[in-house]
Amino acid sequence: MKEVIVIGAGPAGMLAAGTAAEKGARVVLLEKMEKPGRKLAITGKGRCNITNLKNWEDFSLHVHPVNRYFKPAFYHFTSEDTVAFFNGIGLPTVVERGTRVYPASQRAFDVIDALKSWLKRLGVNMICGCQVLEFLPEEMQIQVAHSSGNSYVSSVSSLTIKCGAQETKASASAPGSTKNTNTLTRIKAVRVRDSRGEEKLLTADHFILATGGKSYPGTGSTGDGYTLASALGHTIEPLFPTLTALMPVDYDRRLEGVELRNVRLDLYIEEVLRRSEEGELLFSNLGIEGPIGFRLSRQAVVALNKGQRVSLHLNLKPALTREQLMARWEREKDKTSGANSVNYSCGAGSKISGKNSVGQGSGSEAYLLKRLKAYMPETLSGPFIKYLTLSSLHPVDAMIRWVFPIASYGGWARAVATAGGISMKEVDMRTMRSKLIDNLSFAGEVLDLDADSGGYNLQIAFATGRLAGGGTSVRPTDSA
Ligand SMILES: Cc1cc2nc3c(=O)[nH]c(=O)nc-3n(C[C@H](O)[C@H](O)[C@H](O)COP(=O)(O)OP(=O)(O)OC[C@H]3O[C@@H](n4cnc5c(N)ncnc54)[C@H](O)[C@@H]3O)c2cc1C
Repeated sequence: MKEVIVIGAGPAGMLAAGTAAEKGARVVLLEKMEKPGRKLAITGKGRCNITNLKNWEDFSLHVHPVNRYFKPAFYHFTSEDTVAFFNGIGLPTVVERGTRVYPASQRAFDVIDALKSWLKRLGVNMICGCQVLEFLPEEMQIQVAHSSGNSYVSSVSSLTIKCGAQETKASASAPGSTKNTNTLTRIKAVRVRDSRGEEKLLTADHFILATGGKSYPGTGSTGDGYTLASALGHTIEPLFPTLTALMPVDYDRRLEGVELRNVRLDLYIEEVLRRSEEGELLFSNLGIEGPIGFRLSRQAVVALNKGQRVSLHLNLKPALTREQLMARWEREKDKTSGANSVNYSCGAGSKISGKNSVGQGSGSEAYLLKRLKAYMPETLSGPFIKYLTLSSLHPVDAMIRWVFPIASYGGWARAVATAGGISMKEVDMRTMRSKLIDNLSFAGEVLDLDADSGGYNLQIAFATGRLAGGGTSVRPTDSA
């Protein structure tokens, strides 16, 4: 029976492991954390947006950097297949906002439990607390351990973990004396460290790397896969956090915690409009985020990394034209009591005028605060008035174009996903097998594939995992 070792028990690794087991392989799933699916547990704010039912034409618009690399995996295991799969393993699902799929229970933990039960039924041997440290190529001399006893290298301690894979020990000429890894064609074993801190080698016929990205490292996704793959000669496309907060210059901390709905954000790079998004926005301690902030973040981070000027323009009332908004503002002025009233001329680029212009007295500010109540949450008014004062814009113009120059972006600790990764040019996208190493496949976020928020990233993990798990017996030449 073929033996497969899958590295990483996230959504990609779990799908790969179960699928390989369904195909008749004896499978060991190695996870360095104490439990599988730590990141999966926090997806969708604990509700887990499993997938998105958009068809490929629409789905692919949300996949980066080159969506065609994901196309074969998507068609092999579509979003509908994902739903059918989860329903089939006992997880009812619901569809929200037209295309977003969640577990009916609204609990990400139920997704993990369903996957764990599925893996158990298939006889997958999942070993937690076991970190893969290194791939050992076949050219290295590896002595397979036999019960009769072989001579082991003393530095490699003797370990017995029940995993179904053959336990091996490295010979004295193994790690450290490797030759040029680019010439390697097969992996013989992985060196692992178990929960007791002891090291051993595990052999298998095939290996699947599904170690995820670098974001939220507390979940176990610390970028190990990039080191493991590059040591084998794979190219790692530059890594950067995506779906991350964008920090404005001189961020007004009073904004922290403000959530806005039905607003529009325009992304400007070097003063040129690049993309607009409408929906929900959140000001957090890290800056501008929430669904529409995240959607713009990938392009913004790329530009910031190039040293380009980036700004976000917030429109608080995208459903109204400037003229409609101005007419409403003028209409409401008449209704507001008069002593402290402020007059604003209506021309484009006009400045605040009148007997109590903003910033000149508490009376005018109180008046403005009162008027702004009809247009924005109270928590936003203070920072808005500050912006109004600095920009000298008419309130209506500031409402439809509140400019936030961006200074930086949130790091790995809180980014939802990792952009960059193992180059897809070196992966057979029809099988997920390495083009460099004969018996190695990849799945999930470790690859140079990422997506917008909305269930797309998990679909990438599930579909590439399904494809990798099913392709362990297919030779690369069969599909080339
Ligand atoms: C807060 C948050 C919310 C999200 N919400 C959603 C959502 O609702 N919908 C959506 O589509 N996507 C969401 N995502 C993105 C999604 O979670 C990831 O894209 C997905 O988990 C990637 O799956 P993966 O299996 O490739 O990697 P991971 O889930 O990162 O799993 C990799 C596993 O490998 C293990 N590992 C790493 N190195 C080693 C090693 N050396 N040895 C052994 N094991 C190792 C890790 O411990 C980890 O368990 C969210 C992400 C975050 C951070």
